[in-house]
Amino acid sequence: MTDEGRRSELAAALTEVNGRIARACEAAGRTAGEVTLVAVTKTYPASDVVLLAGLGVTDVGENRDQEAGPKAAEARAAGGTPRWHFIGQLQRNKARSVLAYADVVESVDSVRLAEALARAAEGRTTPVEILIQVSIDGDPARGGAAGDDLWRVSDSVAAAPGLRLGGVMAVAPMDWDPDRAFEVLHGLSERLVKAHPGATAISAGMSGDLEAAVRHGATHVRIGTSLLGMRNPLR
Ligand SMILES: *Cc1c(COP(=O)(O)O)cnc(C)c1O
Repeated sequence: MTDEGRRSELAAALTEVNGRIARACEAAGRTAGEVTLVAVTKTYPASDVVLLAGLGVTDVGENRDQEAGPKAAEARAAGGTPRWHFIGQLQRNKARSVLAYADVVESVDSVRLAEALARAAEGRTTPVEILIQVSIDGDPARGGAAGDDLWRVSDSVAAAPGLRLGGVMAVAPMDWDPDRAFEVLHGLSERLVKAHPGATAISAGMSGDLEAAVRHGATHVRIGTSLLGMRNPLR
């Protein structure tokens, strides 16, 4: 497809997604400006990031360091400089690599990972924003801090000079009603904000459940498929 063809395809999808966000906000008595769209560009090329940035998308999300590092460099060279969110499972030995391009790491779920990121962020002039990934059903298999780990991880992040505790992130468990899942997340966020008043971000909601997330206070929605199209299922 030509660049112009892809540009109009992305523009149409973006209008559709922004419309869904706006309608969900209106129904919830919120203003659309309260919700940031994070375009999840995993498996799609740097050229899509540049096109989306040109269409006004300010934030993009990636889940694999090997893919995201070169893509961020390529997008930057082509004039696309959105905020990069790392949203995937992260190994401690990749902390330094991820901080070379990420502005936000949304998937911090252990004290050990928080400590590795804190060491990698030492001496930064702008702290990297950290969201604590929460396991809503308490099953740590797909990542996420369960139970009291949320409070331990957030205290560790808050104490690190190179990190700024931004809030929470979660994926609704497959077998849960998303409204119930995001209601639980909202409750955890309220408790977190009591202890850390600046940690107000709630990253929740994907292509299939963004409306439920917005109903329950999401400040960030992470949208891949509805914006960029179906991904190759093997990736
Ligand atoms: C891939 C991914 C998304 C986007 O999912 P879609 O259903 O394609 O919108 C959101 N969050 C995380 C953590 C992801 O890995």
